Amino acid sequence: MKIETMLANRIKSLPVYLFAGIDRMKQEAIRAGKDIIDLGVGDPDLPTPAPIVEQLQRAAEVPTNHRYPSYQGMLSFRQAVAHWYRRRFNVALAPDNEVLTLIGSKEGIGHLPQAFINPGDLALMTSPGYPVYHAGTLFASGRSYFVPLTAENNFLPDLASIPSDIAREAKIFFINSPNNPTAAVADRTFFQKVVEFAKTYNVIICHDAAYSEIFYDVRRPVSFMEVEGAKEVGIEFHSLSKTYNMTGWRIGFAVGNSDVLSALGRVKSNLDSGVFQAVQEAGIAALSLPDEALIAMRHIYQERRDVLVGGLQRLGFKVVPPEASFYVWIPVPSRITSLQWTETLLSRASLMTTPGGGFGKEGEGYIRMTLTTDVDRLKEALHRMEAAGICGT
Ligand SMILES: *Cc1c(COP(=O)(O)O)cnc(C)c1O
Repeated sequence: MKIETMLANRIKSLPVYLFAGIDRMKQEAIRAGKDIIDLGVGDPDLPTPAPIVEQLQRAAEVPTNHRYPSYQGMLSFRQAVAHWYRRRFNVALAPDNEVLTLIGSKEGIGHLPQAFINPGDLALMTSPGYPVYHAGTLFASGRSYFVPLTAENNFLPDLASIPSDIAREAKIFFINSPNNPTAAVADRTFFQKVVEFAKTYNVIICHDAAYSEIFYDVRRPVSFMEVEGAKEVGIEFHSLSKTYNMTGWRIGFAVGNSDVLSALGRVKSNLDSGVFQAVQEAGIAALSLPDEALIAMRHIYQERRDVLVGGLQRLGFKVVPPEASFYVWIPVPSRITSLQWTETLLSRASLMTTPGGGFGKEGEGYIRMTLTTDVDRLKEALHRMEAAGICGT
């Protein structure tokens, strides 16, 4: 049987996997015994805080946790989310219908279009952007319209640049702050404009806040839900993955508009059966951690940021230090594609990075480096670049 010819169009229409060539190069380099420094993947290297692990151990022994969990998540977890939102953002949420537990926010983001997008319907998202917004839209046979993120606009989408017929046609709009991959942070004024846009054009806003707790200096990122009217027009996705170093645990949540959440919940209840209750109990322990745990984590990333950005600037790169997220978005020297630059860094300095073009057309001209590697390795990475004569001009 020729399975390849039987593939559904939604699989065939997925963007070509830009990283396939790099992955091959990486595997070859590893086989050749090279010591690769991975600045590519956005996956925290720091361990999950001990109280969270201990809560999982205790909860794993409780037989009632071994059964199917409830679809929308344990009430106690949703209450913990509501408390956390009150404490962190001063936003009130009803645990009953304004909080939904997810198997990581990627799952919720990927499934959301199933609830709202009919074949041919339009979804707005940014380029560059987290690839799941587009993939989820494709899986619902929808169409994506990409709003460019550019340096001139501080990498925030220019809402006024979206043609009004496109805006009227669109059903959902994915936005993301602090942003992966650009590290841009939206402020309250921007979110107010988003609410206005949503009301004018009848578009559901899906704000991805996976990096809300990873910030530097003093300015803490705002939640979309802090802005008046947000709950009428949209939802916000959160993840415990980046905040508490829990990427492997698969737990996140969405909050906000109860009708949108209920529709997403209807999709999910037909496809998955929720999050292991012991993991949800560990999630409660995470959300109840004192602020010190997060402050310590931010200090670690901040030190790394200062080392990496300072070093890159000395090498002649025009890098803006990120205010939030653990990504550094670096313009590549002219006349070379982001993919070529990634290959150069790998072959000449054994550094894995991510080409900006992998996040969409407007990501071309940049590469992304992550801060999920310790200071010594970051210094080694800079040393290798210097030794290989790699500089920003
Ligand atoms: C990592 C990430 C997520 C998803 O994280 P989960 O582990 O699925 O909760 C969502 N959005 C962005 C922008 C991310 O970088």
